[in-house]
Amino acid sequence: MLVTPPPPPFVIPIVSVGLRFLDSCQEYRNLPRQEQNNVWWVANEGRCQRDPGENSVASALRQLRLTMETRFGEYAVDECISTMPMYDPEAKTDHCGQAWEVQDRAFRTHKAQFRCVFGRVKEALRKAMAQHQENVVIAVYCKSGRHRSVATTEITSNVLQSIGYRVNEPAHLADYWWRWLPCQRRGSRCMQCTPAVDDLKAALYRKACKEYRAA
Ligand SMILES: [Zn+2]
Repeated sequence: MLVTPPPPPFVIPIVSVGLRFLDSCQEYRNLPRQEQNNVWWVANEGRCQRDPGENSVASALRQLRLTMETRFGEYAVDECISTMPMYDPEAKTDHCGQAWEVQDRAFRTHKAQFRCVFGRVKEALRKAMAQHQENVVIAVYCKSGRHRSVATTEITSNVLQSIGYRVNEPAHLADYWWRWLPCQRRGSRCMQCTPAVDDLKAALYRKACKEYRAA
């Protein structure tokens, strides 16, 4: 009989981050202008400016790792995953990526993208296991760190948890800027923008688990 081995005892800190807000980071501000432009260009998905150079994506990733490593001290960032290929729901929702409606739309619209994300996570976990690491740090980024990266982080975190990994509660590094979302501006705390898992989210995470296993 085939017995599935238990997952290794990793602790997995998983974070979402918005490239656009890297400029609140001292290391970023110390960079040469050209490097800053590269990050800015990637954060705006190449729409707003001439391409500052073919290395802009690599440069943005380098910067993201640096910022993350400053934030997480002794941890190295094992995997930086882009959710920029997903469409940006900013204009279509009042809520952040913690809301079911944002997660559900992202997942339904971007199944292939999620498989790709899950594949990268699995690969990072395999590598970490081979190197006997105790932590695996996964960073998920988008432009603002409010929708795509947050939704992907929440879904991934719940999937890994349900498989049996020890996952830290996701850290959303750009959450300071959520206060200007339409749902938060009304004053009281939004009931949909929470990490709490209700029936709708539970059903979504079960579907996501299937995709994870298939990835
Ligand atoms: Zn909300």
